[in-house]
Amino acid sequence: MEFSSKLLEKAVNEMAQLPGIGKRTALRLVLHLLKQPKDQTRFLTQALMAMREEIKLCKSCHNISDAEVCDICQNPKRNHHIICIVEDVRDVMAIENTNQFKGVYHVLGGKISPIDGVGPSQLTINSLVDKVKQGDVEELIFALSPTMEGDTTNFYIFKQIKDYPIKTSTIARGIAVGDELEYADEVTLGRSILNRVPFENSLKNT
Ligand SMILES: [Zn+2]
Repeated sequence: MEFSSKLLEKAVNEMAQLPGIGKRTALRLVLHLLKQPKDQTRFLTQALMAMREEIKLCKSCHNISDAEVCDICQNPKRNHHIICIVEDVRDVMAIENTNQFKGVYHVLGGKISPIDGVGPSQLTINSLVDKVKQGDVEELIFALSPTMEGDTTNFYIFKQIKDYPIKTSTIARGIAVGDELEYADEVTLGRSILNRVPFENSLKNT
């Protein structure tokens, strides 16, 4: 791609670093910004910078948060003894949208995936196991996507907490295999949380 301006080229190259954005799309977006009032670009960059600089991970559940402890963990109306284990913030958002879950979350930050070089120590598994050891947990709900990595991660966690007197369950597998939670429709996802099954049952199927 030949550019008439180095500044334009630089902006396009940076934009094209984003996933799913090729050079052509990047060029279209940059030219769009050029046609808009300068303020639009300013608001965009300010929002991105503020997010990048100021966002925190909740001390308790590790979800993305503006405060040290997120709104869900701070909410006294939620059941803090029921913890739903998810991969990332998109899953929290998907489950929150169903309005069917009144417990709290534990965000792992990914799944165990040796191929991608992600081991248990890179995830927040230890802090989850600590919560169970402290005796404050009644039920853990495994809500990772039903992929091989999801199953591996579930089982790894299950092995560490199975001797503690807590309930373990998994969301019903109505969600198509391989689908990420965030893509499941709200009704299906909501139902699968309400109709969750004992975790041991999911082991027998595999
Ligand atoms: Zn939290």
